[in-house]
Amino acid sequence: MLTITTAHQMHSAVAGFRKAGRTIGFVPTMGALHDGHLSLVRAARAQCDIVAVSIFVNPTQFGPTEDLAKYPRPFERDHALLEAEGVELLFAPSVEEMYPARATTFVNVEGPSERLDGKSRPGHFRGVTTVVAKLFNIVTPDRAYFGQKDAAQVAVIRKMVRDLLFPVEIIVGPIVREADGLAMSSRNVYLSPEQRKQALVLRRALDAVEEAFCSGQVDPTVLHERAHQTFAAEPAAVVDYIELVDTDTLEPITGRIKLPTLCAVAAKIGNTRLIDNTVLHPRK
Ligand code: AMP
Repeated sequence: MLTITTAHQMHSAVAGFRKAGRTIGFVPTMGALHDGHLSLVRAARAQCDIVAVSIFVNPTQFGPTEDLAKYPRPFERDHALLEAEGVELLFAPSVEEMYPARATTFVNVEGPSERLDGKSRPGHFRGVTTVVAKLFNIVTPDRAYFGQKDAAQVAVIRKMVRDLLFPVEIIVGPIVREADGLAMSSRNVYLSPEQRKQALVLRRALDAVEEAFCSGQVDPTVLHERAHQTFAAEPAAVVDYIELVDTDTLEPITGRIKLPTLCAVAAKIGNTRLIDNTVLHPRK
């Protein structure tokens, strides 16, 4: 595996592979890799000739009071995991490389960027789309892999790709969970053993919504209430949002659930903000 730290080196490496007619699959990450990330790497491995993974803790997607400084950065371990997956290219740039001095150009997908996590974390998606656009320019992948875990991010990135005509196919991998149902996240390491148990309330809230929906409940207000009641039984969780929205536009569903609907939740357990979601598919 080649570890590359500059855009220039990455362009040359990719040009060589392209000339040889190879397809490139790309998995952007912030590192602290777990099986959720590796599932995307494996999907890319299965579908593309060359797999490129980036590890970059992107400062512009963190708010001023968020965990940028303490975000885990176990680079040696991540490197070994990616090598074991047979990844060809690891892109691990510095902040200065990705944000040249006095850079003032940003990508903002108006609309979905202000919803869900974008509402609670102002500027978050502007940071995400700016860095992903830069990474796409640097890696020029045929396919890029994202996790359904960050469902709002998927909607925002898909729209960016459509709006800016990026010649990239977006592939979305399912949420990978721990055995007890907690969605894997690099932030789970912040949880104490007690908080780790309390964190299961996110999955329980989604289970309650799914259960009601499967038994015929299609009123979003009632489904929302089910999730709310589940959270109320776990006082350690501070709910940020419970939303039933259109999977593409992230606009709230009103009336009754007719189309695939994203049910997304975010909550804080102590200082750790966690997210999870499920998609409700109405019967035709
Ligand atoms: P991150 O390092 O948190 O920026 O995540 C990098 C990519 O991995 C994103 O596309 C995430 O949606 C995806 N990802 C993170 N956690 C999971 C998970 N538990 N299951 C599937 N994909 C995930």
